[in-house]
Amino acid sequence: MPKDNIDILIIGAGIVGVATAAILAESGRKVLVVDRQGICEGTSSGNAGALAFSDILPMASKGILAKVPGWLMDPLGPFTIRPSYLPRLLPWLYRFWRASSADMLERTVEAQGAMMRLAEPEMLGLMQRAGIGNMVREDGSLELYESESELNASLPGWSARKAAGIAFEHLRGSQLRECQPGLSPRFITGTFVPGWKTVSDPKHVGQSLWNYAQRNGAAFTHGEVTSISMNTHGAVAHFADGQTIEAAKVVVAAGAWSHHLAKYLGDHIPLETERGYNTTLPVGAFDLKRQLIFSGHGFVVTPLETGIRVGGAVELGGLKLPPNYKRSEIMLRKAEQFLPGLQSKGGRQWMGYRPSTPDSLPVIGSSRSTNNVLYAFGHGHLGLTQSAVTARLISDLIAGHTSSIPVDPYSPERFRS
Ligand SMILES: Cc1cc2nc3c(=O)[nH]c(=O)nc-3n(C[C@H](O)[C@H](O)[C@H](O)COP(=O)(O)OP(=O)(O)OC[C@H]3O[C@@H](n4cnc5c(N)ncnc54)[C@H](O)[C@@H]3O)c2cc1C
Repeated sequence: MPKDNIDILIIGAGIVGVATAAILAESGRKVLVVDRQGICEGTSSGNAGALAFSDILPMASKGILAKVPGWLMDPLGPFTIRPSYLPRLLPWLYRFWRASSADMLERTVEAQGAMMRLAEPEMLGLMQRAGIGNMVREDGSLELYESESELNASLPGWSARKAAGIAFEHLRGSQLRECQPGLSPRFITGTFVPGWKTVSDPKHVGQSLWNYAQRNGAAFTHGEVTSISMNTHGAVAHFADGQTIEAAKVVVAAGAWSHHLAKYLGDHIPLETERGYNTTLPVGAFDLKRQLIFSGHGFVVTPLETGIRVGGAVELGGLKLPPNYKRSEIMLRKAEQFLPGLQSKGGRQWMGYRPSTPDSLPVIGSSRSTNNVLYAFGHGHLGLTQSAVTARLISDLIAGHTSSIPVDPYSPERFRS
């Protein structure tokens, strides 16, 4: 596609940029996607593959905050802050703390719930239209607890999900063992969520959605965007090699790097990265029936067509510090204890950058400076799950349609106060 004949330039070919390209191309828009890597090669390639439509509780919920001091005592625990990064992190942490107030939490859960109700039909519908409906696994998830007190601590969260219409069942004894044979007896109870889904492999899903976007006319170019400016026809992306590309609309879907571009338009968005780690073991490493969630230890184990993925953890350490793969190892060692019989050799380690806002809601909406630049980032732990719904909301904004859910809760404007 000639670079001077495009309606919409999307910066970022992670799952959010790709889904947005797919939905815009379906409606006949001339779309060009730019990325300094390739299609879904970064964070969107190695995540845990959950379509977590029932995950409506923000990170800043009371349960998480209560656990943080204990986790911070453990430098390789599930939630850590790199000490050298702490000073830069303080403003974001302050907002994170504020997001845990009762009234903020209530609004966030409502907004996240509304988004998730639309996320499910949008994602499953897009995958069907792209011919990859068979990449969805409908096995549900099983969250596991080692004590009655751990289960009791989770109950307020389950009540909030029940109020949002999410089905689940607490299991014990033989029901628990049937749901996942081979579990360590240290787990005395668990919660099965039948509507939770996973995908066969998140990278394959992203690349297949891209193939669908391409079939509908979307194009890709390599390059690093260094800034964005406005002009009379729309917006201009400036590249590291000195080139520029103009488009009527520019969508910033650059994951954890998006706020660096937004600031050129006067938008100061508190985006941080929650770095996450995993190890993908070979196919057949364990007879896993569904995704297992060890929330007390901050990690999940997922059955993929490409292997068994053991990972999670949150490390607040910015975009530049080198990875600490001891985190991958720690989770794998725990998984060996929790799933005796797990074949833990031959794994591949990975780290990704979750793009995270303090209130766990994504940033979807126009720049304060111009309607010609739109933001689609900040999905934290849920970027795969919410990619298609984000694409739909961006498509509505571009077309000037009223969306089927209110978009104000996701607006970049919420950070101005
Ligand atoms: C361990 C882990 C497990 C996870 N599990 C799940 C899960 O089970 N389910 C779920 O829904 N989510 C999960 N997530 C979160 C999910 O992976 C992310 O929210 C999602 O991948 C973000 O997608 P994105 O497209 O916004 O960003 P990215 O995938 O990071 O894509 C952004 C792209 O923008 C490009 N880019 C950035 N800046 C520029 C620039 N200036 N110029 C050109 N290109 C640029 C980058 O190269 C990159 O390709 C997990 C994350 C981690 C780390």
